[in-house]
Amino acid sequence: MKKLQMVDLHGQYLNIKTEIDKGIQEVIDSCAFINGPAVKKFQENLEKYLGVKHVIPCANGTDALQVSMMSLGLQPGDEVITSSFTFIATAEVIALLKLTPVLVDVDPDTFNIDPLAIERAITPKTRAIVPVHLFGQTAPMEEIMNIAQKHDLYVIEDNCQAIGSDYYFNDGSKKKAGTIGHIGCTSFFPSKNLGCYGDGGAIFTNDDDLARQMRVVVNHGMTVRYYHDYIGVNSRLDSIQAAILNAKLSNLDEYAAKRRIAADFYDKAFVNQPKLKIPSRYPKSNHVFHQYTMIAKSIDRKALIEYLASCEIPAMIYYPVPLHMQKAYLDPRYKAGDFPVTEYLCANVFSLPMHTELDEVQLTYITQNVLEFLNR
Ligand SMILES: *Cc1c(COP(=O)(O)O)cnc(C)c1O
Repeated sequence: MKKLQMVDLHGQYLNIKTEIDKGIQEVIDSCAFINGPAVKKFQENLEKYLGVKHVIPCANGTDALQVSMMSLGLQPGDEVITSSFTFIATAEVIALLKLTPVLVDVDPDTFNIDPLAIERAITPKTRAIVPVHLFGQTAPMEEIMNIAQKHDLYVIEDNCQAIGSDYYFNDGSKKKAGTIGHIGCTSFFPSKNLGCYGDGGAIFTNDDDLARQMRVVVNHGMTVRYYHDYIGVNSRLDSIQAAILNAKLSNLDEYAAKRRIAADFYDKAFVNQPKLKIPSRYPKSNHVFHQYTMIAKSIDRKALIEYLASCEIPAMIYYPVPLHMQKAYLDPRYKAGDFPVTEYLCANVFSLPMHTELDEVQLTYITQNVLEFLNR
């Protein structure tokens, strides 16, 4: 059996090696390392794939979130509502820009932000909502957009984990995750569903004015060369990374299908286990399984992970600490117990290997060993 990894990037590379190597070589031959034709081509390919008017490539997902907030003209003290159960980057940029992060709890089944909790957290200072499409499943965007419209708020989707996921509206229409709010952000970190071979990110919008402003902000706030009308940042996607992403984007739907096959295999093995809760599948979103995350119920999670490690099966905890309990983010507004669902999840979730190269032998080995632990 091939050695198990949380993500098998090398195995995935071998299947598309010719295309990737050719793309990288072309960039080197052209020496157009910054903003070369590969970047433009990727931007257009991604716009087409997502059905969105503008894609603005940038250096990483964290920058995508920061540039979004800078471009909306949010001011220090403005409140931005986001999920208490997410990767730190979401709250980090809010804090960096001296905006006030307002945390709200998540739904215990989907792990995504709870729209009712959003409404309760709105104050006259609220300017934006940042839903996170956690682990590959779109947050309840229809409800969130209705709330935003009612209260005149911006919505910035943190789509770093759900690129390619479709969201279905009540009227039967669908849109890609990240293209529903005013702005969508994604990351091309290597382990993401659409990952490059280094850092990368992108911002999506259907709004022409916002797109123009974001293109200025990512380029040092420059409108005409060496004339800086705004304070900006330097945030670019390298041409080599764009070439890699061009090769991988055409496989993205197939990659999602492979992840779903692995998820179905896990579901089938664990669905009747009272000590495990398999991931819920929210009917309005097709899950692209960035992670396969279960809840360990009345079992010792640490012992399970150690047991799996002894069988050379990696397992990870995303995320062990709720945002409001992170040392750098301790805030007198919040205390332990304020976000009970998030706190419960942080104490009990764990994720199994999930990627595009898992085969049946590996999946059988993983599931058998998890069951072995449960039946000890
Ligand atoms: C990965 C990730 C980010 C940050 O992306 P980087 O490219 O690593 O900066 C932000 N939010 C979420 C939810 C993520 O998973």
